[in-house]
Amino acid sequence: MSVRTVLSRLERATRPADPRTTHALAQRWEALPAVVRTPAQSLGRHAVGCEGTHGVFPKCNLTCSPCYHSKDANKVRIDGNHTVTEVTRQMALFRRERGPHAHAQLIGGEVSLLSPDAHAATLLAMREHGREPMSMTHGDFDETYLRSVVLGADGRPRLARVSFAAHFDSLMRGRRGIPRPRSEAELNPYRAAFADMFRRLRRAHGVQSFLAHTMTVTTQNVDEIAQLVATVPAMGYSMMSFQPAARVGDGRRWKEGVADVGMADVWQQIEQGLGRSAPWQAVEFGDPRCNRTAFGLRVHDDWFPLLEADEAVDMTARDWFYRHLAGMDFIATPVWLVILKLLRCAVQHPSGIRVVGAYGRGLVSRLGGLRVLVNALARRRVTPLTLVVHAFMDADVVAPAWALMEEGVEAVDASVRATQERLQACMYTMAHPDTGRLIPACVQHSVLDPGENEELRRLLPLTVLRG
Ligand code: SF4
Repeated sequence: MSVRTVLSRLERATRPADPRTTHALAQRWEALPAVVRTPAQSLGRHAVGCEGTHGVFPKCNLTCSPCYHSKDANKVRIDGNHTVTEVTRQMALFRRERGPHAHAQLIGGEVSLLSPDAHAATLLAMREHGREPMSMTHGDFDETYLRSVVLGADGRPRLARVSFAAHFDSLMRGRRGIPRPRSEAELNPYRAAFADMFRRLRRAHGVQSFLAHTMTVTTQNVDEIAQLVATVPAMGYSMMSFQPAARVGDGRRWKEGVADVGMADVWQQIEQGLGRSAPWQAVEFGDPRCNRTAFGLRVHDDWFPLLEADEAVDMTARDWFYRHLAGMDFIATPVWLVILKLLRCAVQHPSGIRVVGAYGRGLVSRLGGLRVLVNALARRRVTPLTLVVHAFMDADVVAPAWALMEEGVEAVDASVRATQERLQACMYTMAHPDTGRLIPACVQHSVLDPGENEELRRLLPLTVLRG
């Protein structure tokens, strides 16, 4: 191989982002409504958006209230082959439209109803398509199941790292050991036991894990959030995501009035639990009416934001990152290559050294100073914690806005227009390989799920007649 070829390959390999990602980012930015093109917006600058599966295993074995699943979801058989095939097709479309790397949720019904082999095969298929998968679960499964998913027949890991989002809240019904929790606190031993399984898996087999804690919020449990934020991260969760209930799914599992919880109510509880402000304004994902996110670190038991929206040095660092490291994949890229990419960036844009230096000094001081930080690092008491609120929209709000969008009509009514803006800026989409379209999750659940599950019910009936 000639020197010229080697240099050219090195040049391509050390670009911050794959050109297909850069293209997808540009397309995303172009399609965003003006209202969300703020300096904080990461969609189209750094992120292409999150992805989720649909129509692949709609069944669930709990009986929660509220429930987002359509009424036919539990009449569809779990079928591992169907799941692997359809997820693979959906991931292929994501790869084509959104570039080679993204985060994708393996979601539908309850993921642990898949056989361990089908679950593992699906995660591997997602990785093959450059997706970093996260299995969404109610968390009510045994350690044997987890190990069977992660370890192959030879007892060695077939998955070197896993991500799970476990949904725990007191609105859920039918969990083993606690079928009708009366408070969020009563579920804490179950939250801890879930995280402990992954700790043991890491110790025994070196399997890395990322755990998120998710929960639905209604008027019944909103006041308990602060307490959860103060206690749950220490169990081993690196993300806490709250979803104020939206009127979607099976109407038989809904009670009047419980969905009247706003994003601000939840955020106020989060800040109360953290004992400080959580500046979500520094980085936006899509429309802030849909999402609020604050990235931070726990040092000992205190949480500190990675970015303060009103700190000039932090905002300069964020803007520099958006400008020069847009679309860079930090998860699937080997560490040595990340370092090479960063070095190249530093050589090409030496101003970054000053920007990053100033940001780093500010961050260390915010975290309590170098001595505190080194001490906490030595004791492994520095852990990431991201706080998220994702407010899905009610089905009767989404349906009319989407119907107009399908006709290419921009709504005149301000509230319908607002819904259209949120859908255009959606950061959580689902792939439809048959039509080649990516659909906002709100539309999927509000408009498309009922028909899709009706079809699946015929394709995968619960009772299989054998000839
Ligand atoms: S799924 Fe709905 S609430 Fe979430 S980002 Fe998309 S439009 Fe907004």
